Amino acid sequence: MKIAFIGLGNMGGGMAANLVRAGHQVQAFDLSEAALERARAHGCTTCGTVREAVAGVDAVVTMLPNGAIVKSLFVSDVIGHAPEAALLLDCSTIDVATAREVAGLACAAGYRMGDAPVSGGIAAANAGTLTFMVGGDPEVFAAAEPILAGMGKAVIHAGESGAGQAAKICNNMLLGASMVATAEAFKLAERLGLDLQTFYDIASKASGQCWSMTSYCPVPGVGPTTPADNGYQGGFATALMLKDLKLAMAAAEGVGAPVPMGHRAEELYAAFETDGNSALDFSAIIKVL
Ligand code: NAD
Repeated sequence: MKIAFIGLGNMGGGMAANLVRAGHQVQAFDLSEAALERARAHGCTTCGTVREAVAGVDAVVTMLPNGAIVKSLFVSDVIGHAPEAALLLDCSTIDVATAREVAGLACAAGYRMGDAPVSGGIAAANAGTLTFMVGGDPEVFAAAEPILAGMGKAVIHAGESGAGQAAKICNNMLLGASMVATAEAFKLAERLGLDLQTFYDIASKASGQCWSMTSYCPVPGVGPTTPADNGYQGGFATALMLKDLKLAMAAAEGVGAPVPMGHRAEELYAAFETDGNSALDFSAIIKVL
Protein backbone atom coordinates (compact mmCIF):
# COMPACT_ATOMS: atom_id res chain seq x y z
CA MET A 1 0.00 0.00 0.00
CA LYS A 2 1.01 3.62 -0.46
CA ILE A 3 0.67 5.37 2.92
CA ALA A 4 1.22 9.02 3.91
CA PHE A 5 2.67 9.40 7.41
CA ILE A 6 2.54 12.88 8.98
CA GLY A 7 4.30 13.59 12.30
CA LEU A 8 7.62 11.75 12.55
CA GLY A 9 8.51 12.59 16.16
CA ASN A 10 9.37 10.32 19.09
CA MET A 11 6.45 8.04 18.31
CA GLY A 12 5.76 8.61 14.61
CA GLY A 13 9.39 8.08 13.55
CA GLY A 14 9.39 4.45 14.69
CA MET A 15 5.83 3.85 13.50
CA ALA A 16 6.61 5.02 9.96
CA ALA A 17 9.73 2.83 9.92
CA ASN A 18 7.60 -0.18 10.89
CA LEU A 19 5.17 0.52 8.04
CA VAL A 20 8.15 0.39 5.66
CA ARG A 21 9.25 -2.90 7.26
CA ALA A 22 5.72 -4.23 6.76
CA GLY A 23 6.16 -3.70 3.03
CA HIS A 24 4.34 -0.39 2.55
CA GLN A 25 5.53 2.54 0.49
CA VAL A 26 5.57 5.45 2.96
CA GLN A 27 5.37 9.13 1.89
CA ALA A 28 6.45 11.00 5.01
CA PHE A 29 6.18 14.61 6.15
CA ASP A 30 7.19 16.52 9.27
CA LEU A 31 8.06 20.16 9.95
CA SER A 32 11.42 19.06 11.35
CA GLU A 33 14.28 18.46 8.91
CA ALA A 34 15.98 16.12 11.43
CA ALA A 35 12.82 13.99 11.59
CA LEU A 36 12.68 13.85 7.79
CA GLU A 37 16.29 12.74 7.65
CA ARG A 38 15.61 9.90 10.10
CA ALA A 39 12.59 8.86 8.04
CA ARG A 40 14.70 8.74 4.88
CA ALA A 41 17.24 6.54 6.68
CA HIS A 42 14.37 4.15 7.50
CA GLY A 43 13.29 3.87 3.87
CA CYS A 44 10.48 6.46 3.73
CA THR A 45 10.11 8.81 0.78
CA THR A 46 10.07 12.30 2.27
CA CYS A 47 7.92 15.14 0.96
CA GLY A 48 8.08 18.93 1.14
CA THR A 49 4.43 19.47 2.12
CA VAL A 50 1.48 17.57 3.58
CA ARG A 51 -0.37 17.88 0.26
CA GLU A 52 2.54 16.27 -1.56
CA ALA A 53 2.65 13.44 1.00
CA VAL A 54 -1.07 12.61 0.71
CA ALA A 55 -1.17 12.68 -3.11
CA GLY A 56 -2.19 9.34 -4.60
CA VAL A 57 -2.10 7.36 -1.33
CA ASP A 58 -4.31 4.51 -0.07
CA ALA A 59 -4.16 5.71 3.53
CA VAL A 60 -3.06 8.69 5.65
CA VAL A 61 -1.70 8.16 9.17
CA THR A 62 -1.02 11.10 11.51
CA MET A 63 0.88 11.20 14.84
CA LEU A 64 0.77 14.83 15.97
CA PRO A 65 1.08 16.75 19.26
CA ASN A 66 -2.52 17.90 19.86
CA GLY A 67 -6.08 18.33 18.63
CA ALA A 68 -5.67 21.88 17.30
CA ILE A 69 -2.82 20.79 15.02
CA VAL A 70 -4.70 17.66 13.92
CA LYS A 71 -7.78 19.70 13.01
CA SER A 72 -5.99 22.43 11.12
CA LEU A 73 -3.81 19.95 9.21
CA PHE A 74 -6.76 17.78 8.14
CA VAL A 75 -8.92 20.75 7.22
CA SER A 76 -6.30 22.63 5.22
CA ASP A 77 -4.16 19.90 3.69
CA VAL A 78 -5.69 16.41 3.87
CA ILE A 79 -9.44 16.66 3.27
CA GLY A 80 -9.93 17.49 -0.40
CA HIS A 81 -6.28 16.74 -1.21
CA ALA A 82 -5.87 13.01 -0.45
CA PRO A 83 -7.77 10.70 -2.84
CA GLU A 84 -11.36 10.27 -1.63
CA ALA A 85 -10.85 6.50 -1.36
CA ALA A 86 -7.96 6.97 1.09
CA LEU A 87 -8.52 5.76 4.64
CA LEU A 88 -7.70 8.49 7.19
CA LEU A 89 -6.32 7.44 10.59
CA ASP A 90 -5.28 9.81 13.36
CA CYS A 91 -3.12 8.06 15.98
CA SER A 92 -2.38 11.19 18.07
CA THR A 93 -3.85 11.51 21.58
CA ILE A 94 -6.44 14.30 21.31
CA ASP A 95 -9.80 15.25 22.84
CA VAL A 96 -12.86 13.21 21.95
CA ALA A 97 -14.82 16.21 20.63
CA THR A 98 -12.12 17.24 18.13
CA ALA A 99 -11.65 13.62 17.01
CA ARG A 100 -15.39 13.39 16.26
CA GLU A 101 -15.46 16.80 14.60
CA VAL A 102 -12.57 16.06 12.23
CA ALA A 103 -13.95 12.60 11.39
CA GLY A 104 -17.33 14.24 10.71
CA LEU A 105 -15.76 16.76 8.34
CA ALA A 106 -13.83 14.00 6.55
CA CYS A 107 -16.95 11.87 6.29
CA ALA A 108 -18.96 14.78 4.87
CA ALA A 109 -16.28 15.13 2.18
CA GLY A 110 -16.63 11.43 1.26
CA TYR A 111 -13.74 9.92 3.26
CA ARG A 112 -13.61 7.11 5.83
CA MET A 113 -11.81 8.20 9.01
CA GLY A 114 -10.98 6.60 12.35
CA ASP A 115 -9.29 7.70 15.57
CA ALA A 116 -6.59 5.21 16.57
CA PRO A 117 -4.61 6.42 19.61
CA VAL A 118 -1.97 4.15 21.09
CA SER A 119 -0.86 2.74 24.38
CA GLY A 120 2.86 1.99 24.79
CA GLY A 121 5.66 4.51 24.64
CA ILE A 122 8.59 5.23 22.35
CA ALA A 123 10.13 1.78 22.85
CA ALA A 124 6.87 0.10 21.75
CA ALA A 125 6.58 2.48 18.78
CA ASN A 126 10.10 1.49 17.67
CA ALA A 127 9.55 -2.21 18.31
CA GLY A 128 6.15 -2.31 16.59
CA THR A 129 4.41 -3.48 19.78
CA LEU A 130 1.90 -0.66 20.35
CA THR A 131 -1.72 -1.30 21.33
CA PHE A 132 -4.18 0.60 19.11
CA MET A 133 -7.70 1.48 20.27
CA VAL A 134 -9.80 2.35 17.27
CA GLY A 135 -12.92 4.50 17.02
CA GLY A 136 -14.97 4.32 13.84
CA ASP A 137 -17.64 2.19 12.24
CA PRO A 138 -16.92 -1.52 11.60
CA GLU A 139 -15.98 -0.86 7.97
CA VAL A 140 -13.35 1.69 9.07
CA PHE A 141 -12.00 -0.77 11.63
CA ALA A 142 -11.78 -3.59 9.09
CA ALA A 143 -9.80 -1.38 6.71
CA ALA A 144 -7.58 0.04 9.49
CA GLU A 145 -6.72 -3.24 11.22
CA PRO A 146 -4.19 -4.62 8.68
CA ILE A 147 -2.38 -1.26 8.46
CA LEU A 148 -2.18 -0.75 12.23
CA ALA A 149 -1.16 -4.39 12.79
CA GLY A 150 2.14 -3.54 11.10
CA MET A 151 2.91 -1.15 13.95
CA GLY A 152 1.45 -2.93 16.96
CA LYS A 153 0.83 -6.09 18.91
CA ALA A 154 -2.91 -5.45 19.41
CA VAL A 155 -5.56 -3.55 17.44
CA ILE A 156 -8.87 -3.27 19.29
CA HIS A 157 -12.16 -1.82 18.06
CA ALA A 158 -13.32 0.53 20.85
CA GLY A 159 -16.60 1.62 19.21
CA GLU A 160 -17.85 4.46 17.04
CA SER A 161 -15.95 7.63 16.10
CA GLY A 162 -14.15 9.10 19.15
CA ALA A 163 -14.32 5.84 21.13
CA GLY A 164 -10.60 5.21 20.66
CA GLN A 165 -9.78 8.57 22.26
CA ALA A 166 -12.33 7.94 25.02
CA ALA A 167 -10.71 4.58 25.84
CA LYS A 168 -7.23 6.12 25.77
CA ILE A 169 -7.97 8.95 28.21
CA CYS A 170 -9.95 6.71 30.59
CA ASN A 171 -7.03 4.26 30.61
CA ASN A 172 -4.47 6.99 31.22
CA MET A 173 -6.56 8.64 33.94
CA LEU A 174 -6.58 5.25 35.68
CA LEU A 175 -2.82 4.96 35.15
CA GLY A 176 -2.13 8.44 36.59
CA ALA A 177 -4.26 7.83 39.68
CA SER A 178 -2.85 4.32 40.22
CA MET A 179 0.75 5.62 39.95
CA VAL A 180 0.06 8.23 42.64
CA ALA A 181 -1.60 5.59 44.82
CA THR A 182 1.28 3.15 44.31
CA ALA A 183 3.86 5.83 45.12
CA GLU A 184 2.12 6.95 48.31
CA ALA A 185 1.67 3.35 49.49
CA PHE A 186 5.44 2.79 49.19
CA LYS A 187 6.19 6.05 51.02
CA LEU A 188 3.84 5.10 53.84
CA ALA A 189 5.34 1.60 53.98
CA GLU A 190 8.78 3.22 54.35
CA ARG A 191 7.62 5.50 57.20
CA LEU A 192 6.12 2.48 58.94
CA GLY A 193 9.51 0.78 58.86
CA LEU A 194 8.77 -1.85 56.21
CA ASP A 195 11.52 -3.11 53.94
CA LEU A 196 10.34 -1.91 50.52
CA GLN A 197 11.31 -5.05 48.60
CA THR A 198 9.41 -7.08 51.20
CA PHE A 199 6.38 -4.80 50.83
CA TYR A 200 6.61 -5.22 47.02
CA ASP A 201 6.80 -9.02 47.38
CA ILE A 202 3.64 -8.95 49.52
CA ALA A 203 1.57 -6.31 47.69
CA SER A 204 2.40 -7.66 44.24
CA LYS A 205 0.76 -10.93 45.29
CA ALA A 206 -2.05 -9.32 47.29
CA SER A 207 -5.09 -7.23 46.43
CA GLY A 208 -3.08 -4.00 46.00
CA GLN A 209 -1.37 -5.44 42.90
CA CYS A 210 -1.53 -3.17 39.85
CA TRP A 211 0.47 -2.39 36.68
CA SER A 212 1.99 0.76 38.20
CA MET A 213 3.57 -1.47 40.86
CA THR A 214 4.48 -4.72 39.14
CA SER A 215 5.43 -3.41 35.68
CA TYR A 216 6.47 0.16 36.45
CA CYS A 217 7.47 0.35 40.11
CA PRO A 218 8.31 3.97 41.06
CA VAL A 219 10.86 2.85 43.71
CA PRO A 220 14.48 2.43 42.51
CA GLY A 221 15.83 -1.09 43.00
CA VAL A 222 12.42 -2.63 43.67
CA GLY A 223 10.53 -4.80 41.16
CA PRO A 224 11.48 -4.92 37.47
CA THR A 225 13.89 -2.43 35.88
CA THR A 226 11.96 0.80 35.27
CA PRO A 227 12.72 4.52 34.71
CA ALA A 228 13.07 4.76 38.54
CA ASP A 229 16.31 2.78 38.13
CA ASN A 230 17.57 5.34 35.62
CA GLY A 231 16.99 8.56 37.56
CA TYR A 232 13.44 8.76 36.12
CA GLN A 233 14.84 9.51 32.65
CA GLY A 234 13.07 8.20 29.53
CA GLY A 235 9.74 6.43 29.88
CA PHE A 236 6.49 8.40 29.78
CA ALA A 237 7.11 12.10 30.45
CA THR A 238 5.21 13.94 33.19
CA ALA A 239 4.17 16.51 30.55
CA LEU A 240 2.43 13.79 28.51
CA MET A 241 0.70 12.30 31.56
CA LEU A 242 -0.52 15.78 32.49
CA LYS A 243 -1.76 16.33 28.93
CA ASP A 244 -3.79 13.11 29.10
CA LEU A 245 -5.17 13.93 32.58
CA LYS A 246 -6.28 17.36 31.33
CA LEU A 247 -8.03 15.71 28.36
CA ALA A 248 -9.73 13.31 30.78
CA MET A 249 -10.85 16.18 33.05
CA ALA A 250 -12.26 18.12 30.08
CA ALA A 251 -14.10 15.03 28.84
CA ALA A 252 -15.47 14.30 32.32
CA GLU A 253 -16.71 17.86 32.67
CA GLY A 254 -18.35 17.64 29.25
CA VAL A 255 -20.49 14.69 30.31
CA GLY A 256 -20.86 15.61 34.02
CA ALA A 257 -18.94 12.54 35.27
CA PRO A 258 -17.47 12.79 38.80
CA VAL A 259 -13.76 11.86 38.72
CA PRO A 260 -12.34 12.81 42.13
CA MET A 261 -9.28 10.55 41.93
CA GLY A 262 -8.45 11.64 38.39
CA HIS A 263 -8.92 15.25 39.46
CA ARG A 264 -6.50 14.89 42.38
CA ALA A 265 -3.95 13.12 40.14
CA GLU A 266 -4.20 16.03 37.69
CA GLU A 267 -3.59 18.57 40.50
CA LEU A 268 -0.54 16.66 41.72
CA TYR A 269 0.96 16.26 38.23
CA ALA A 270 0.26 19.94 37.41
CA ALA A 271 2.16 21.04 40.55
CA PHE A 272 4.95 18.57 39.77
CA GLU A 273 5.30 19.98 36.26
CA THR A 274 5.27 23.58 37.49
CA ASP A 275 8.20 22.68 39.74
CA GLY A 276 10.27 21.95 36.62
CA ASN A 277 9.78 18.20 36.28
CA SER A 278 7.94 18.01 32.96
CA ALA A 279 10.62 15.90 31.23
CA LEU A 280 10.92 13.36 34.06
CA ASP A 281 9.10 10.04 33.81
CA PHE A 282 5.66 10.24 35.45
CA SER A 283 6.63 7.73 38.16
CA ALA A 284 8.94 10.45 39.57
CA ILE A 285 5.82 11.86 41.27
CA ILE A 286 6.95 9.68 44.21
CA LYS A 287 9.59 12.33 44.93
CA VAL A 288 6.99 14.80 46.20
CA LEU A 289 4.87 12.41 48.24
P1 NAD B 1 6.72 14.60 19.28
O1 NAD B 1 6.63 16.02 19.69
O2 NAD B 1 8.01 13.87 19.46
O3 NAD B 1 6.31 14.45 17.73
C1 NAD B 1 5.35 15.23 17.09
C2 NAD B 1 5.87 15.53 15.70
O4 NAD B 1 4.87 16.23 14.98
C3 NAD B 1 7.12 16.40 15.69
O5 NAD B 1 8.15 15.76 14.95
C4 NAD B 1 6.66 17.69 15.04
O6 NAD B 1 7.66 18.32 14.26
C5 NAD B 1 5.53 17.20 14.18
N1 NAD B 1 4.57 18.24 13.82
C6 NAD B 1 3.98 19.18 14.60
N2 NAD B 1 3.15 19.94 13.88
C7 NAD B 1 3.21 19.47 12.61
C8 NAD B 1 2.58 19.85 11.40
N3 NAD B 1 1.71 20.86 11.35
N4 NAD B 1 2.88 19.17 10.29
C9 NAD B 1 3.76 18.13 10.32
N5 NAD B 1 4.38 17.72 11.45
C10 NAD B 1 4.11 18.39 12.56
O7 NAD B 1 5.54 13.86 20.05
P2 NAD B 1 5.36 12.28 20.30
O8 NAD B 1 5.94 11.90 21.62
O9 NAD B 1 5.78 11.55 19.07
O10 NAD B 1 3.77 12.20 20.46
C11 NAD B 1 2.89 12.26 19.35
C12 NAD B 1 1.50 11.92 19.82
O11 NAD B 1 1.50 10.61 20.42
C13 NAD B 1 0.94 12.86 20.89
O12 NAD B 1 -0.41 13.10 20.61
C14 NAD B 1 1.15 12.09 22.18
O13 NAD B 1 0.23 12.46 23.19
C15 NAD B 1 0.93 10.66 21.72
N6 NAD B 1 1.57 9.62 22.54
C16 NAD B 1 2.86 9.77 22.94
C17 NAD B 1 3.46 8.77 23.70
C18 NAD B 1 4.89 8.89 24.17
O14 NAD B 1 5.32 8.10 25.02
N7 NAD B 1 5.68 9.81 23.62
C19 NAD B 1 2.72 7.61 24.05
C20 NAD B 1 1.41 7.48 23.59
C21 NAD B 1 0.85 8.50 22.83
